[in-house]
This record gives sequence, structure tokens and C-alpha cells, in this order.
Amino acid sequence: MKAEIIAVGTEILLGDILNTNAQYLALQLAELGIDVHYQSVVGDNPQRLKDTIFHAFSRASLIITTGGLGPTEDDLTKETGAEYFDEELVLDERALKRIENYFNKVGRKMTENNRKQAFVPKNSTVLYNDNGTAPGIIIEKNNKILVMLPGPPKETVPMFEQQVKPYLAKKQEYTFVSRVLRIAGVGESSMETIVKDLIDSQTNPSIAPYAKDAESILRITAKAKDKQQAEQMIEPVAQEIYRRFGNDIYAEGETNMQTTVAKLLIDKQKTIATAESCTGGAIASALVEYAGISSTFIDGCVTYSNASKQNRLGVKSETLQKYGAVSPQTAIEMAEGAAKTANANIGLSTTGVAGPDGGTEQKPVGLVYIGLTIDGVTTVKECHFVGNREKIRVRAVYTALDYLRRELLK
Ligand code: ATP
Ligand code: MG
Repeated sequence: MKAEIIAVGTEILLGDILNTNAQYLALQLAELGIDVHYQSVVGDNPQRLKDTIFHAFSRASLIITTGGLGPTEDDLTKETGAEYFDEELVLDERALKRIENYFNKVGRKMTENNRKQAFVPKNSTVLYNDNGTAPGIIIEKNNKILVMLPGPPKETVPMFEQQVKPYLAKKQEYTFVSRVLRIAGVGESSMETIVKDLIDSQTNPSIAPYAKDAESILRITAKAKDKQQAEQMIEPVAQEIYRRFGNDIYAEGETNMQTTVAKLLIDKQKTIATAESCTGGAIASALVEYAGISSTFIDGCVTYSNASKQNRLGVKSETLQKYGAVSPQTAIEMAEGAAKTANANIGLSTTGVAGPDGGTEQKPVGLVYIGLTIDGVTTVKECHFVGNREKIRVRAVYTALDYLRRELLK
């Protein structure tokens, strides 16, 4: 089955909003093993939408549209889809009831326009919407399937997940299951080299390497009759990859470094305080993304100036004079000062040259020291990051959290 994704909406065409629905659907279809050869965006214009649907069905058997199902004049997707299949629109009592209930629940008055949303193509499957008013529609006829979903992602995503995915999965002979291993501290090309033999020799499961922000990722995908069989096929491959990377694999699936570290801190019941210079509070901010961090995160200092490093953290003026603010000695005193003033188990610090100015031959742009003290044992890590200011700061945050993670696992 070949599929196309069509996003409907002038706002997307003009760049006012990002087409996140297409990204989401593309990922989902790949997981289902359905090939997507084209994606397109079309404005709220009936003729152009019609042309786009005709064109897409000339080369694909499944089309998923998002947007244009709403109550307003410019919402025309359903009408156009019905027209393509020569289906008349009829009132769906259940959809109407649900729309009425929705308005009662949110306490808004229903307009005549909203009634329009309860009209559906006669021979279609109605996807009732738990998160908005517009129902989605599936029309399947002459070996062609048109799935029309609402535009707002908070409606599109659950509707696809709960109703469209099972519908499409039933049509697929095989199921595809993926496991995503997230790897820290190993660049994309090194990672690829480490598993090159596996990548080259495997077709099912297949192993796909890619990089995102500061991390490298391996996705193992198996094609099998059912989920359980696919998982069994993946297991030995995953084990082999774990054997090769060990602790470099910091987590699996849709997660990130800060979540992993936050969970680890809570798990180990270690309290933490941060003292940041070049990362400007970004480490604290990353940790605070995690709900429940309050049981471990005590304090976050942004000590940018020398004076603040001295006053708030007790960094010695001799240290700053002798070694400078960007030095292992300062990073150590910052970490220890943070832990001490907050009475925390852990102090984590950063000090570095984020650039673009301020670099010298001894202390070039990208030089960052990460100080870490855990229950009185202090260590420091010297890093050399490349890239612009933004990149250096992102890498510094990521590496500091990863450094803490590795020390906590020891
Ligand atoms: P509504 O009932 O809200 O009018 P709709 O199905 O008619 O829903 P649109 O009017 O096309 O959808 O879009 C409504 C909102 O949904 C947009 O303003 C935008 O915020 C979001 N949206 C639409 N399409 C996309 C998309 N492809 N990716 C991300 N967000 C989208
Ligand atoms: Mg709309």
C-alpha cells in the first residue's frame, strides 16, 4: 500500500504554522510499514484541493488529509472528498449528538455552522472526535482509501492513534515494530562504525543509525506476523548492541537525557544543586521539565560574573585570579559551593567560553569545564565543543547531564 499525506490549510502554505501533522503521520505510517512517496500542502481552495486529491490517487491507494473539517466556510475537505467518491453528505445523528454534547460541556453556544460538521459521506466510516467537534471520515471504495482528519494536532493525533491505526494495521499483512536506542557521548559516525557489520548483514530486523541534537540513535525495526514475534526478533540484536555500547546507551524510546537523569536522581534519592555560568540556567531548566523533580532539585544558581561566583558559591578570589573563571579549579569550587550552600548531595557546575568572542589560544571558544561533586567526591571534566554559541551551550548542557548520569551509575 502506497500512501500520501495532504495537509490542507492556507496557514500552513504561508508558513504561519508548522506542518507537524505530516511529520507525525509520516512516522506513524512508516511504523505500519506503509510507504509514503509524496506529501503535499494545499490551501483552503476547493479546486486546488480537488486537483491535489485526484493527482494523489493517480499514484497512491491511501490518502490521509488533515485540516479543513471545521465549521467555517473555508473548511471544504469533507465536501471535496465526498465529491471525489460521488458520495452525498447525510446527517449523522450520533455525530450531531456528540457535537451538541461537546458544546454543552464547554459551555459555548452551538451555531448552525456546527451542524454542518455532523454531515458525513453516505458510505463512510465516521471517526468520532473526543477532543473537538469535527468528526473524521474514512471512505473506502474501489481499492482507494481516503482518511480525513481534523487539523488541530490534539485532535488529529488521538484520532489516528485510536481509530485509524487499528484500521490500517488490519489491512497490513505484516506488522512493523521498532526499538529506539539512544546513545550519548558517541558521535554518529563512530556509532555507525561500531555497528557497521550488523547494519550490513541485517535486513530483518534492520538497523538504522541517525543523529539528533547532541545524541546518536539506533533504530531496530523488525517485520513480522505479529508484535510478539517482531519483539523476539529484535531482542538478540538489541542485546548485541548493548554489549557493544554498554552505558553509552542511556535510554530507549521517545525520551531525552534530562528525563533519564531526573529519574535516576529520584531513584537514587540524591538531591542536587546546580551552579551554571556558560549554560545560563539551562541545566536547571532541563531538569525542571520533569514533573516530580522537586523531591531532588534544591537550587539552581546562574553565576555569570566572578563576583557572583564568589558571593553565592564561595569560589575563592585567588582561584579566579590564578586560574581564571574558565578553569577546572573554578568548576570544582562552583560545584562544591553549590552543594554546600544548598546542603545537597550533588553539585553540578559549568564554566566555559561559549563565544563567539572571548576565546584565547589557551582557552579557545568551545572550552567548557564541568564540575561535579557527589557526596563529597569531586571530579571535573574538560570538554571541547565545536559550533556556534547556541550549539556549544546545548552540548554543554547535554554533556553535563550525561556526565552526572555516568557518575551516578558507577
Ligand atoms: P477546526 O475545527 O479547528 O477549524 P479543522 O479540521 O478545520 O479544525 P483547520 O481549520 O484546517 O482544521 O486547522 C485548525 C488548526 O489546527 C490550525 O489553526 C492549526 O493550528 C492546526 N493545524 C491544522 N493543520 C495542521 C498541520 N498540518 N500541522 C499542525 N497543525 C495544524
Ligand atoms: Mg477550520
